[in-house]
Amino acid sequence: MAILVCGGAGYIGSHTVKELVDTYEVVVLDNLTTGFEHLVDERATFIQGDLGDRTVLDKIFLAHDIDAVFHFAANSLVGESVEKPLKYYRNNVSATLVLLEKMVEHGVKRFIFSSTAATYGIPETAVITEETATSPINPYGRSKLMVEQALADIAHVHDFQYVVLRYFNAAGAHQSGKIGESHDPESHLIPIVLQHLLGQREKISVFGTDYATADGTCVRDYIHVTDLARAHILSYQGIANGKIANATFNLGNGAGYSVNEIIKECERLSGKQANIEYAPRRAGDPATLVASSKKIEEALGWTPDFDLQAIISSAWAWHSK
Ligand code: UDP
Repeated sequence: MAILVCGGAGYIGSHTVKELVDTYEVVVLDNLTTGFEHLVDERATFIQGDLGDRTVLDKIFLAHDIDAVFHFAANSLVGESVEKPLKYYRNNVSATLVLLEKMVEHGVKRFIFSSTAATYGIPETAVITEETATSPINPYGRSKLMVEQALADIAHVHDFQYVVLRYFNAAGAHQSGKIGESHDPESHLIPIVLQHLLGQREKISVFGTDYATADGTCVRDYIHVTDLARAHILSYQGIANGKIANATFNLGNGAGYSVNEIIKECERLSGKQANIEYAPRRAGDPATLVASSKKIEEALGWTPDFDLQAIISSAWAWHSK
């Protein structure tokens, strides 16, 4: 039996494939619009194609005995989603619905879905639990919430089980040093700061200094990509052995760091000083997003292994290569 990883050539997908291939047969489907084939572990079967392509999906489901689908393939930039909402609804919602239709048609009944803290919008509590109301403030968050809602409806009537994983801020690189965070163009804070400290960017722009946070910059909860990967595998095993079904879990470290604090920690670990420009707010950014991940800890025994220092050190090791 195999696992189909949609978006397995992307940042989080490729790290999860690396954790999976030791134990499972893995098939990766990726259209390479934001992913890179060289990130895919060579032990996986790589297929270049679109999630919304019924012919490609039929071929995969007929050729391989797929037991579960891990779905990472999505556009995930908050700012871009505000500028290009149709792209987000087409790629994140419509294409995913085609995948889900094909899964049901071929009797594939286990689904692990990459969702996001952006589904919560501007939360009313300092620490977000899965009970916190969802009210996304950007098309990216809305596109993910729409799929979450579709999953509940599908599982209600079909022999189909899912786990929704709401990531907070994924960061860091694989311990092998072979893969790490890589987007083109890069828009995420930690890689941008590290690229700047390595002399690959002139300066860092801090988007917004007037948020209702201790230092006025946005606070986020950073979680290591390998911790995320492990949570996917535990979730799959959890539904396969009947421990859980149709669950939604937050994945974060439970600690918030401001943009200024991240820059300071990167400076400290690299021993270099940053050239910072204070810029206007970026569209769609909530002030603070910090997770409680108690629910997945209680259900599956998952706890993060990497703290902020370990996250940034692993990213620095990879970016410095
Ligand atoms: N950010 C910033 N400058 C940058 C990139 C990001 O100030 O060059 C801020 C961004 O506005 C947000 C935080 O850093 O408050 C984390 O952004 P990122 O894009 O890494 O992740 P997101 O929270 O959007 O998933």
